Amino acid sequence: MHIVNARLRTAPGLHSIFCQNGRIHRIIAQSEPLAAQPGTLDASSNLVIPPLVEPHIHLDAVATAGQPEWNRSGTLFEGIERWGQRKATITHQDTKARAHAGIRMLAEHGIQQVRTHVDVTDPTLAALKALLEVRDEARSLIDLQIVAFPQEGIESFEGGRALMERALDMGADVVGGIPHFENTREQGVSSVHFLMDQAERRGLKVDVHCDETDDPHSRFLEVLAEQARVRGMGAMVTASHTTAMGSYDNAYCSKLMRLLKAANLSFVSCPTESIHLQGRFDTFPKRRGVTRVAELDRAGLNVCFGQDSLQDPWYPLGNGNILRILDAGLHICHMMGYDDLRRCLDLVTDHSARALGLGEGYGLVEGRPASFVILEAASDYEAVRTQAKALWSVRNGEVIMQRAPQQVQLLPGR
Ligand SMILES: [Zn+2]
Repeated sequence: MHIVNARLRTAPGLHSIFCQNGRIHRIIAQSEPLAAQPGTLDASSNLVIPPLVEPHIHLDAVATAGQPEWNRSGTLFEGIERWGQRKATITHQDTKARAHAGIRMLAEHGIQQVRTHVDVTDPTLAALKALLEVRDEARSLIDLQIVAFPQEGIESFEGGRALMERALDMGADVVGGIPHFENTREQGVSSVHFLMDQAERRGLKVDVHCDETDDPHSRFLEVLAEQARVRGMGAMVTASHTTAMGSYDNAYCSKLMRLLKAANLSFVSCPTESIHLQGRFDTFPKRRGVTRVAELDRAGLNVCFGQDSLQDPWYPLGNGNILRILDAGLHICHMMGYDDLRRCLDLVTDHSARALGLGEGYGLVEGRPASFVILEAASDYEAVRTQAKALWSVRNGEVIMQRAPQQVQLLPGR
């Protein structure tokens, strides 16, 4: 495969990209636009970027909103309760069908790398068994990392530790956690020690739902970061949500930042989900309920955006389009300055890839997989301003998605 007239984020002008055996062979600057020949893919001066990444989603819960009841309070905790009801009716085929539907939504928007959390607080581990099959079946569209996620706790759920170990034995890729949901502070702390022990012993990555609350006293991020620092595992560890950081006072947070930098872990913020679920116990003024994305980014820490949900008990909307999340996130996190806008795609590409530990398996670099997306825009700024769509998605040298550009005509009245 050979792409012409590609605009890159990393160099001015137009480029040709030559692919061979599913890898990027050469990237060459063009002195002028080239006419597309048969067999070449014309990027038409649009951006060619590495595939979009979904670093935080719950594929086992896709399309379960309102089943059997809607989350009427809009809180995280009612979401967990509603999910508990739905979980009792789950079947293998039902989970697989919904997860595949979710993956198609993501693939339609140029996403090829996905990390899903799967609830393992279920003695039958039904959802995990289904998702392990989906991971293989969906390989032509996406690479899927599965997090063993203890939705109802490791310490406060009956048999929680044993379920985590079984899930990891069965082939989950990443160790999860939910310390702020454990019954006591002590259980939260010991759950973090347990999950870090598991990850270190097995050589696995870690992604913890951490301090997903407005409670300023929820301080498990410091525990996770210190564990990552002491064990030298920062590059393997992601803290998801950390919404309590939005409620921490600045004196505590400035001390915490020192530790976060020393630990060098990654962060995922899910801004649409968090602004929906958090702030629910406030009247006015009402907190935004999101973590300090801009501050983490300015401090040089790795931070990215995720969708979290596609139509589930926690969030009734969602369509797979991570650029919708980017748009909302830039608004919610006060990141609309020009310097942010001109590099905003980092938050849904390179930063997410780093959180997922994709290394040399990702990026528009010679020798790496020929996997990329053509966005209908000439720059990051235009991509977010026009709510650009992915026009083509190429995976290991094969086109896996193509979208016709939208045609609009103005018809002035007579
Ligand atoms: Zn989540």
